[in-house]
Amino acid sequence: MGDSLDRHSDHLTSELQARVRGAGPTGALAALALAEAGWQVELEDPLTASQLLARNRAYALTHSSRRLLERLQLWEELAPALAPFRALELHDLELGLQVPFTARDLGRRAASPSTAPASTCSASSGDAVGWVVRHTPLMELLLRRLEGDGRVQLALGSPGSQTPVDLLVAAEGAASSTRQGLGLAHWRLPYSQSCLSVRVRLRGSASDQAWELFRAEGPFAVLPLGGDRFQLVWSGPAQRMRRLESLDPVAFLDRLAGALPDGLQADALLDAPRAFPAALELSGGFHRGNTVLVGETMHRCHPVGGQGLNLCWRDVAVLHKLAARTARGRLRLSRLPAAYGRRRWPDVLLTLLATDALVRLFSNRQWPQRSVRQIGLGLLGRLPLLRRLSLRTMTLGPCQLLARWSE
Ligand SMILES: Cc1cc2nc3c(=O)[nH]c(=O)nc-3n(C[C@H](O)[C@H](O)[C@H](O)COP(=O)(O)OP(=O)(O)OC[C@H]3O[C@@H](n4cnc5c(N)ncnc54)[C@H](O)[C@@H]3O)c2cc1C
Repeated sequence: MGDSLDRHSDHLTSELQARVRGAGPTGALAALALAEAGWQVELEDPLTASQLLARNRAYALTHSSRRLLERLQLWEELAPALAPFRALELHDLELGLQVPFTARDLGRRAASPSTAPASTCSASSGDAVGWVVRHTPLMELLLRRLEGDGRVQLALGSPGSQTPVDLLVAAEGAASSTRQGLGLAHWRLPYSQSCLSVRVRLRGSASDQAWELFRAEGPFAVLPLGGDRFQLVWSGPAQRMRRLESLDPVAFLDRLAGALPDGLQADALLDAPRAFPAALELSGGFHRGNTVLVGETMHRCHPVGGQGLNLCWRDVAVLHKLAARTARGRLRLSRLPAAYGRRRWPDVLLTLLATDALVRLFSNRQWPQRSVRQIGLGLLGRLPLLRRLSLRTMTLGPCQLLARWSE
């Protein structure tokens, strides 16, 4: 490992070799980013391509993800699969308080939520607060690009290789064996909540509107998928979520009606509800030797605010910049892992703390927390500057809070 770092300290730039372990959404994008930066990349995963495509999930994408996808020339091709949302309604159901966010709160031209099917709306970056994309079309695009990239060698559905490389990128998800093998500490704080994700037909919402509903049992995200289709991410006590998961569709829709606010009504389930445990996880180190951790191998947060995958992709954005500098001979290969680790700490820590604070503040009925919410939401509703700061923090990450809105 040390030999490999030394070998490249003189910037033998054209021969840089990376191996990415894990071809989930983070690893697949990291492999494309490294190839774009001029590296030769092996991407390996024990799952086959069809297994990698098979997950039934949808991700909310923020502007930090949009910027990275644009830099990697993926955005235009992904556009038909994106459902933009032009408004985000924060609704505290306990207090009966609502705060609407629009692109104007990002310093952009705002459009009113539309009544047209979202599939007819463009995914242009101009007036969207965010976008929702389903796992399968996203991974289809990433795998198609990887297959067509001469710098990438795909090893899917096969055991990993042990031959030495210049940089090893562990993108193996939360249960990473590479991270364990490196002996890095790992903290896990399970929430008492689980999250149940399901696709439904919904009445009562504009087709390009997203909702973050705060209920005492946990946050509840309603994300548009185009037309009257929505992805729900419903958080609540783990046992209750498991029981809900096993209900028949009629009984499930009945319980769902009790959880949604007046005016929103689910008419049909479009897939089977699936519950997954929520936890806050953090690796004690972000690199060791020539290995760097990315995505859920390094951190995991509660899905509130839709931060998870966007935070993973901000790891990729930093890795992309550093890998490009190394390939150009402007950063020594031996310094890349530590430089990456230093740059990722603030964003990762602040995002984990912010999502944890949101869960603790909103998932209860205690009067001190209710008072803080009452004051906070009141101020958010009245002060455009505060709305702007919070939305920018959510969409670009906390470290961009003070950065100039440059577009
Ligand atoms: C059941 C469930 C439902 C979810 N639903 C949503 C949702 O609706 N919306 C949302 O935003 N987020 C959701 N999430 C979270 C979201 O899936 C993660 O944020 C995202 O998958 C993280 O991507 P990743 O690439 O870092 O890790 P993963 O997606 O976990 O990918 C890791 C990859 O590494 C591979 N791997 C493992 N070990 C090795 C090894 N030793 N060598 C090589 N490869 C290896 C695995 O096969 C896998 O393909 C959900 C999570 C779960 C568990």
